[in-house]
Amino acid sequence: MNLTIPFDNTYVSLPENFYAKLSATKVSDPKVIAFNRQLSDLLGITQAEDEEIAEVFSGNVACDGSQPLAQLYAGHQFGQYNPQLGDGRALLLGETVGTDGVRRDIQLKGSGPTPFSRGADGRAWLGPVLREFVISEAMHSLNIPTTRALAAVLTGEKVVRDKVYPGAVLTRVAKSHLRVGTFQVFSERRDFKSLRKLLDYAIERHYPNANGPLGFLKCVIKEQATLIPKWMGIGFIHGVMNTDNCQIAGETIDYGPCAFIDEYHPMQVFSSIDQFGRYSFAKQPDIIVWNMAQLATALLPLESDADQAIKDFTIVVNNMQTQIRENWLKIFAAKIGISDPKPKDEWLIKELLTLMEKEKSDFTNTFFSLITGETQNLFSKPEDFKAWERKWKVRISKERKVPETLRKANPVLIPRNHRIEEMINAALKGDFSLFNRLLVAYRQPFEENPRFVDLKSAPNASEIVHSTFCGT
Ligand code: AMP
Ligand code: MG
Repeated sequence: MNLTIPFDNTYVSLPENFYAKLSATKVSDPKVIAFNRQLSDLLGITQAEDEEIAEVFSGNVACDGSQPLAQLYAGHQFGQYNPQLGDGRALLLGETVGTDGVRRDIQLKGSGPTPFSRGADGRAWLGPVLREFVISEAMHSLNIPTTRALAAVLTGEKVVRDKVYPGAVLTRVAKSHLRVGTFQVFSERRDFKSLRKLLDYAIERHYPNANGPLGFLKCVIKEQATLIPKWMGIGFIHGVMNTDNCQIAGETIDYGPCAFIDEYHPMQVFSSIDQFGRYSFAKQPDIIVWNMAQLATALLPLESDADQAIKDFTIVVNNMQTQIRENWLKIFAAKIGISDPKPKDEWLIKELLTLMEKEKSDFTNTFFSLITGETQNLFSKPEDFKAWERKWKVRISKERKVPETLRKANPVLIPRNHRIEEMINAALKGDFSLFNRLLVAYRQPFEENPRFVDLKSAPNASEIVHSTFCGT
């Protein structure tokens, strides 16, 4: 075996009630679909042949140093507390410290049942695996903190969902898989000894300067208050912001039903299971505050003076709105070329958004058109846009480096829903050329490349994707 992974595991040293140790379930005929060389180099993994990559990242062969385990967690799903979730179809193989000094988890997703599977098969089918691979890597190139995709492997087995599909395993890489729900599970069980151990572990791993539960809460809030406005800046709707999908290190995690806005509408929802729009585009800032309130609640028992802690935690959680708003303003101001926004710039931004909503303008192409000036086809009533444009030009005449600011803030390409669907349908027919093409195109989403002009277009009426599925 040439393939080696420099494992350096810490989670496995936590008490045994934090996880279940087990091996992946073997698969019959593993074949590599994709392997992310750049990421594998960062993790310190040695070069290897495709056969070995397939064996290791399907779970058939365990590399030296791997100590596979399924993590325990709980979480609020659509507001309802579920006391036990856990990795039902994932296995943490272990951790590595990358060439950049960052410790990361390497996790198989779709590797077979675990004690947390709750009757489900523990498998993943090809569609969601390719979806997460392309979108998470695109998010990384769009400068959004995210888990990443190291490998996608076909298992050679069938997975039964609404139909029978080819099975696949995704290897996900994350700063860690600690979630709000990891804290909730011990807190709700009143297992405060484990809760304390988890907090100490999370502080040491992610926020070494944080002081106690309150300091830790502040750090997590700061990261999440940075992340969510970044999502909004590229029109991203996560779709399933349950507390078990809310990561402590502040990376985007779980690409189940996520989608990107084409026509701008603040209440847009794609996920078929989000019936009441709890996780709609514009509600994401409120939901993240709600999730942080759940984290605060979970941490409370660790403070000796409960009354004082409730006061302190409430202030910190309430202050999150302001942080989000400030970050939102910075991001959206940059999208219209303003690098040092004043509070009243919010009006100028909101006026454009209102116009876009009325006109059903394409989110990405409208902002990109501010760079090129090609707004002809975006507004049915160009006079309204022209009126906004005049005010905008006056405002940016006081700014420096407007073109640079616009370029950095406005991608030309995003992983549009219809392109992702098209890619999955082709792959189901055995054609992976679109998958590979999207991977290349989305590596440089801020650059106009004549090879990928077709990927700029909004979907036509027959191409529009109206809903997305969790894809489990
Ligand atoms: P998710 O929707 O991916 O956030 O998953 C929610 C929970 O359902 C997690 O505990 C998953 O491990 C579990 N789960 C989802 N799909 C499967 C599956 N096919 N087999 C077993 N558990 C699953
Ligand atoms: Mg999840």
